[in-house]
Amino acid sequence: MQSVDVVVIGAGFAGLTAARELGNAGLSVLTLEARDRIGGRTWTDHRLGHDLELGANWVHWVQPHVWAEMTRYGREMIRSPRAEEAYWRSREDGVRQGTLEEFMDLIEEGQRELVKDVAAAIPRGTEPTVGTIQELDRRSIQDGLDMLRLTPEGRVANEAVWVGHVNAPLDQVGLSSALRWVAATGGHWELMHEASSTYRVVDGLRAFTDLIAADVPGEIRLNTVVTAVTQLGDTEDDAAGVIVETADGTQIRARRVVSTLPVNAITEITFTPELPAAWLRQHGETVASQGTKVWMRAAGHVPRFFAYGSQHDALSVLKAEFYLSDEHGDYTILVGFGPQHTRIDLDDVASVQSAVDRLRPGLEITEVTAHDWMTDPFAQTTWMTHRPRQLTRDLLELQQPAGAVHFATTDNANLWGGFIDGAIESGLREAKRVKDALLERP
Ligand SMILES: Cc1cc2nc3c(=O)[nH]c(=O)nc-3n(C[C@H](O)[C@H](O)[C@H](O)COP(=O)(O)OP(=O)(O)OC[C@H]3O[C@@H](n4cnc5c(N)ncnc54)[C@H](O)[C@@H]3O)c2cc1C
Repeated sequence: MQSVDVVVIGAGFAGLTAARELGNAGLSVLTLEARDRIGGRTWTDHRLGHDLELGANWVHWVQPHVWAEMTRYGREMIRSPRAEEAYWRSREDGVRQGTLEEFMDLIEEGQRELVKDVAAAIPRGTEPTVGTIQELDRRSIQDGLDMLRLTPEGRVANEAVWVGHVNAPLDQVGLSSALRWVAATGGHWELMHEASSTYRVVDGLRAFTDLIAADVPGEIRLNTVVTAVTQLGDTEDDAAGVIVETADGTQIRARRVVSTLPVNAITEITFTPELPAAWLRQHGETVASQGTKVWMRAAGHVPRFFAYGSQHDALSVLKAEFYLSDEHGDYTILVGFGPQHTRIDLDDVASVQSAVDRLRPGLEITEVTAHDWMTDPFAQTTWMTHRPRQLTRDLLELQQPAGAVHFATTDNANLWGGFIDGAIESGLREAKRVKDALLERP
């Protein structure tokens, strides 16, 4: 039986970061990845004639863990196109066209008022469970918006903007998601918008994760699904080690394991002893995120625009991203986001066309591509957002190791939970804990 100091399960940002840190500290590390590629929920693929990010896309310098890695690997970023036109819902069925400034004026009050208590709610973005968030966490984003006196048009626009951020119906998402991300940007909601949807990484996230993987001293074994993690000795005995079993029956012995599985997917592995209560509880509820991200080809050169529909639409947000041409002529690549992956058939151009028509009439959609992360067994999540109460009830417990098993995932990060930054933070955190434990006990 192969024996290593640490098995890392998963080669997304959390796993790659943890494996690199552990290997560089002199520990033997084996990374087991279920897919035929690294990157996890980041996936740059060439489709519709362009490299597209099917998972994560945007990064920002206010995300400190991402930014340190951007600097370390010489990555640069580029701004997504500035919109020349804005579209939004004037009545439940009408679409209004205006300028970016008019739209920002429309949402300003709602955005500002929703998070006006952020300084007391989460005084430090790095401690998202400390502050009046303990009481506010009962509320959903919908509860928060319902308490405001917004015009009907302002309310629909604000709701659609929040769907773009949290990818779920707003009555299912904790107000905590809004508050913690605004806390992470020093209380400035405009900066939170910029941080979460403006700058992408030049050459794509695949090139980024390739560079981190090249720095991982141990083997990264692809196409290897972990099915069981069994701790030897009793639960309190973290020195006895762990047996990790993969789908083909291979067993590997390790002194520690770092799991990077998201909350929604964690029970695909049988843990013995069973997972800590917080993991089982949150997994049973699932986290709130359940949306969809879809790339589309629209005929012709469409002026740069963004469009917001309503949170009740199949797609709530639509933007023009790239301009290309081929033998059929000019075309524009659009990206759309919706609150529930079940509301739209991503294999059916007509279904996507009718969703687009409700946001930005007059476009001809000729091709569609997407990855459904919710039905992907190794993710079962998009970018994590919590349901009401989940953050304050579970976060600290989710961060704790269980004997020799550690949990590093963006789902249990402090600062930018749900983002790439959170994945890196969690990988660094658990690598430090494992190093502290193993290097002082050779
Ligand atoms: C559509 C979409 C858009 C997003 N947009 C952004 C954005 O713009 N900016 C941003 O910062 N973040 C964004 N995110 C979130 C970001 O992608 C994630 O927060 C981050 O990539 C999570 O990293 P992770 O390492 O914690 O988890 P993952 O990337 O999910 O890594 C876990 C790894 O474990 C592997 N695995 C699972 N089960 C097993 C098993 N049984 N055995 C072995 N391996 C297993 C998986 O294949 C995966 O590689 C987006 C996500 C999605 C889906």
